[in-house]
Amino acid sequence: MKLHFFGAAREVTGTCYLLETGSHRILIDCGIFQGGDHDSERNHLPFPFKPSEIDALFITHPHMDHVGRVPQLVKRGYRGPIFTTPPCGELAQLLWKDMLAVMGDALKRDDIDPLYDEHDVGRAAEKVEAVEYGEAVEICAGAVKAIFHDAGHVLGSAFIELRIEGKPQCHIVALAKQQGQIAASVGCALSRARTCRCTWPCPGWQLHGAASRARTCGVSVELFGVPRFQPR
Ligand SMILES: [Zn+2]
Repeated sequence: MKLHFFGAAREVTGTCYLLETGSHRILIDCGIFQGGDHDSERNHLPFPFKPSEIDALFITHPHMDHVGRVPQLVKRGYRGPIFTTPPCGELAQLLWKDMLAVMGDALKRDDIDPLYDEHDVGRAAEKVEAVEYGEAVEICAGAVKAIFHDAGHVLGSAFIELRIEGKPQCHIVALAKQQGQIAASVGCALSRARTCRCTWPCPGWQLHGAASRARTCGVSVELFGVPRFQPR
């Protein structure tokens, strides 16, 4: 089992995690890089994996740094389903359409190629499969089970609990932005988790609470994103 971080590592945008179970590949989020000097170029780079080899995509929430490159993923060969909560599915489609307008303006102004077009957005929208909080989704012939939990960040946001057949520990991929609420959610789940991945560090006591629970349970908590974070 391998978990790769292709974005939001030592930075907070471009979230894209790849979980390799040995027999399947699952992608969590596929966001654009924003705010850096070379992010426009980075968003045009090839994905560091073959989109056609991904079995399923899970989206945690409708912000562009988590969902913005999804139509590009489809354009470059992704054929599988896109699982997310009903509000997130609807909002993501609005964001993609808005991005088309933004990219159109950039094309006129700076002659920058768009990341994707209306056709790609339409194909991505067709792949969206809505999942309610608490509902278990089985993929890869039952080898992977996913459960969305309310993350309290924005409407439809979720952290996603992944259970892998044959692996006694479940793996949690989390976002943490609305820090207090997320820390509490993650804390409740930590007793079952082996890996907890947060893009944003939690300030002070929330972080310490999550980390101490993790240590109590003998699991690892990896908090990347903002370099100034120092675990104590
Ligand atoms: Zn967000």
